[in-house]
Parts: sequence; C-alpha cells; structure tokens
Amino acid sequence: MNPRGGLARDGLALGMLLAASAGCAVAWVDVDPPRVVHELGPPGARRRLEDWAGVVHVHSVRSGDAWGRLESIARDARRARCRFLVLTDHNKVGYLPREGDVAGLLVAVGTEVSAPEGHMLALEVSRGYNRHRPASATMDEVHAEGGYVVLAHPEGPRGYWKDWSVDGFDGMEVYNVHSDVLDESPAWSLVKLALIYPLDPRGMLASMVDRPARALARWDALTRQRPVAAFCGSDSHGYLDLGGGFAASHETVFRLVRTHALVEEPTLEGLHEALRRGRSFIGFDAWGDTTGFRFIATDGEDAWVMGEELAWRPGLRLRVDLPRRGILRVYRDGRSLVRVRGRHLEVPLESGGVYRVEADRAWGLFRRSPWIISNPIYVRDAPGAPGH
Ligand SMILES: [Zn+2]
Ligand SMILES: [Zn+2]
Repeated sequence: MNPRGGLARDGLALGMLLAASAGCAVAWVDVDPPRVVHELGPPGARRRLEDWAGVVHVHSVRSGDAWGRLESIARDARRARCRFLVLTDHNKVGYLPREGDVAGLLVAVGTEVSAPEGHMLALEVSRGYNRHRPASATMDEVHAEGGYVVLAHPEGPRGYWKDWSVDGFDGMEVYNVHSDVLDESPAWSLVKLALIYPLDPRGMLASMVDRPARALARWDALTRQRPVAAFCGSDSHGYLDLGGGFAASHETVFRLVRTHALVEEPTLEGLHEALRRGRSFIGFDAWGDTTGFRFIATDGEDAWVMGEELAWRPGLRLRVDLPRRGILRVYRDGRSLVRVRGRHLEVPLESGGVYRVEADRAWGLFRRSPWIISNPIYVRDAPGAPGH
C-alpha cells in the first residue's frame, strides 16, 4: 500500500513516536536467553542440537533501498539476542568477504534475487545472480555451486511468486515481517499507537501480526509432495515503513520474530545445514522467548526432529514441549489433529503423514497471537502399517 498525503504524515509521525519509544522496546527482553542443547537418541549414538536464534533475510545499505552497514546491523542483532544473521542484499553479495564472526555474531551472506517469477533467496552461494534470468536457471546454478534456494514472500503482498510450476526451490518463507506489516492501515495504526502502545507495546505489535494462512496452506500442499523447509523472512530494511506506520528499524524487527535453528556444528556450514533441511522453527519471541521449544517423534529409543523423515513404526509418538504455556496445535497433512492448552503434549501416531506444530499465546490487551510455527516431521507409511 502506498500512503498518500495525510496518511503519509500520520505514518511519519507514528514512526517517529515509535522510534522515540525504542528505549521501552529495549527493555522487553532483559536477560540473555538460556543456551539450550537438546540431547537426542539412544546412548552411544546421542546427537547434540543447540537452539540458535537468529534472523534470515536482512538488507543492508548495499541493497540500495535499505539502511545500515554490516557492523551496525550486527550490533542490532546482538542486542536482539541473536546468534546468527543471514544477510541478503538485492542480487549481490557485497559483504561476502566479511562472512563469519562479526563481533560475536555468526554472519552468513546470501542474496535476494529479483527473478521475473518473483523474489528468492540464494543461500550458501559465492556470488550474486542476474535478476533477468529465469528463476529455474538461477535455481540450477545455485544448486550447481552447492547452495540452496528459498522463495521470498511468495504469497505477497510485497510481490507474489508467479509460477508455481517452477519447483526447484528448497524452502519458502511462510512468514515475512515486511509483508505482514504492510497489510495494516496507517490510520488504524495511529489510533492503536495513541490508545494501546503506551500501556501495552507488545500487545500493539501482537495486533499487527497475523497468522500467515495463505502461505501456510500453500506450504502444506507442497510438503505433501516433498520436503520444503519453512523460513521466516525478517526482510528488514532499517527504515520507517510508512505503509504500515511502523518503526521497522532492524532491531525492532529482530526482536519481534526470530528463526531458531537446531545446529549440530557451531559453524556456518552447520547453520546452513539446519536451515536448508528445515531443522528449525519460527518463534515470535517478542511475547515470550521460544528458545527451548522441542518437537520430536520418538519410538522410545530413537528420536527424529523437524525436517527429518522416517518410516512409521509401532509405538511411534510425537512429543511437544513448549518453554511456557500456550495454545498448542498439531497438524497432520495440513489438517488440525489435536488442540490443547498447556506446555506438554504426547500424541501416539497411528499412521504416516506430514506432522507439524503451531502454538499461539495470549498477550496484552489485544488478542491472541501466533507464537511458534514449526517445520514438519515427515513420517512415511511403511509396508504393513495401518492405512490412512
Ligand atoms: Zn523481496
Ligand atoms: Zn527483501
């Protein structure tokens, strides 16, 4: 939405006020998140997966339409208690020589390619990509150099993915902050700023976050065919977004929602491996740190995590643990299977399916908000398993 005249001024005033309130925002998370390591599997074959919170899809001044140099964005990410940041400037990888540790933050440098079919993130790559090339050709080139591809904001409103017959991507954003904020009315945001923000800043932000129903439905349809990793695109540009009347500084966006990767090796390669395979979840950490969320399938001895695939077997069950109380839903093949209020859940599995979890949390004066969106565990029907 392009604001005009009075609405643009409202948006600017709102943005400035919100920017001035940034000091309040800093106080939201005032302790370091715990370092959580999940130890899974039988003795002798234990795996250690550490929960790393970070942000994916971030633009710097080198994008041409964004603010912030790498050092200042890295500082913002550190303040938002991030362990990693995936920078994706438009069509180029100017900061690639800086990849690695930047002031205690692990920085990965990819790029957002504006292909004719829509935008996509090319990650774990060594160069920028020509935006005029067909998306399928770019996807092939990225894979040829060992990288992977994630569709950016494929369900808009910042721009839609125009050709779903192109299927060479590895993941898709099921949530994009910029897209979600843009669907707010600036005038209504101003009213909320005056009435809600002084009492309940988190509640106001929560009121701007919508469950990404269209993207989730699209993703559920895709994952029934093949694994597709879900991503959260911060898509932060570091400036005031007048369309949403929202002070979308990098730090504000980083504090709102983060990607949690379950990292086996604390390296760039280890981070990419987790993201690419969907060994991750999306956490709206502004209304409750989601670090420590756990979703596994287990037969009592072995355990499988998000993004992994296994054959159904007798005694198989799902186990979900939230870091605090919420409203927890398990989906099977895109359909709600169980809904409970609480922290822990165990569900025996009768058959194969694509199982994933969402959790909501009530916050502030406004309403209930999405809190966690997990990647799926893919349970394949084994010969001899009960039918659907
Ligand atoms: Zn884009
Ligand atoms: Zn972007």
